[in-house]
Amino acid sequence: MCYEIKNPPQELVQFINTGSRFIIAGHKEPDGDCVGSQLALRSALLRLGKEAIACSAGPFKRTELREYSGQFTDQILEQEDAGDPPRVVIIDCTSRDRTGDILESLEKFPCAIIDHHASVTHPQSSAEEPVYVDENSPSSTLLVYKLIKELGLELTKEEATLLFFGLCTDTGFFRYLTEKNAAVFEAAAEMVRFGANPKLTFNNIHGGKKLNSRILLGNVLSRIESYYGGKLLFSYETLEEFNAFGFESRDSDSLNQLLLSIEGVEAFVIVRQECADNCTVSLRSVDKINVSQIASSFGGGGHKNAAGLTMKGDVSIAKKNILDSFHNIFAC
Ligand code: AMP
Ligand code: MN
Ligand code: MN
Repeated sequence: MCYEIKNPPQELVQFINTGSRFIIAGHKEPDGDCVGSQLALRSALLRLGKEAIACSAGPFKRTELREYSGQFTDQILEQEDAGDPPRVVIIDCTSRDRTGDILESLEKFPCAIIDHHASVTHPQSSAEEPVYVDENSPSSTLLVYKLIKELGLELTKEEATLLFFGLCTDTGFFRYLTEKNAAVFEAAAEMVRFGANPKLTFNNIHGGKKLNSRILLGNVLSRIESYYGGKLLFSYETLEEFNAFGFESRDSDSLNQLLLSIEGVEAFVIVRQECADNCTVSLRSVDKINVSQIASSFGGGGHKNAAGLTMKGDVSIAKKNILDSFHNIFAC
């Protein structure tokens, strides 16, 4: 059985076609999928003669996003003129709260959602609030790709590159796809046909790392702890490291690949202390374990095999809470 990617609902196509001004928003702490989706859709809307801005609360933590961060604003200015009120499209977001500090400025406008996370909080699609969610889509950029085609446009090279970039970041450069994902490769081939360059995209995501990033990777690897007979791995980044190395040196994808390649591993947890009383937690699993359920139980979210959350407290508190939550999974 192959997954086909859902087509955009007609309400969404109408919402775009009948609007003239758009705010394209995404989740805070954006990733490549969020950034690629927002900027590709903005480009397509501009080509349709509409006004469109890309809006994000940031911060742009990942090095591969640096070149794009200047194209976003976190200021949504009240327009005095009597033109159409803007319409909002929120992309790659499980709940509106995930947009962060820009949420309040968005709330007063009609809003559509495009997302690929499983979530009970997404409302039913309607003309006022179109919802385009396909949890079998491995990236939001694939949904934006479908939408741009449905709007009657061919991809530009820039859009193809942005869409391919998001697809590659969310699929670990296709590593997380299976035999069910033929449709994804068909879409990827089309993006390449319109100018996306896989080699450049790979280098953009994985090349140009600082020496410090390898040292930090080594530190995190050197303190791996193994639980439940090696099925669960745990490690962490300290506040001192965060202060010394910063976001710049963080290289989650390489770390994920190294940890998931260890024999017998079914899941891992990385806790990062980013300030004295707050940690971010990354959860990954190889296959059957649904880490998004664990993340959701702490107010986070994500996908079955990749999820995250933030937690008050220090590494030892986060470690205890998260490891305890794996108890029921591994102890039976
Ligand atoms: P990360 O480990 O930060 O790369 O996050 C993995 C995935 O988990 C992301 O693609 C998001 O879908 C999700 N995620 C991360 N942090 C959160 C959060 N605080 N709330 C909801 N979802 C999150
Ligand atoms: Mn995302
Ligand atoms: Mn995504």
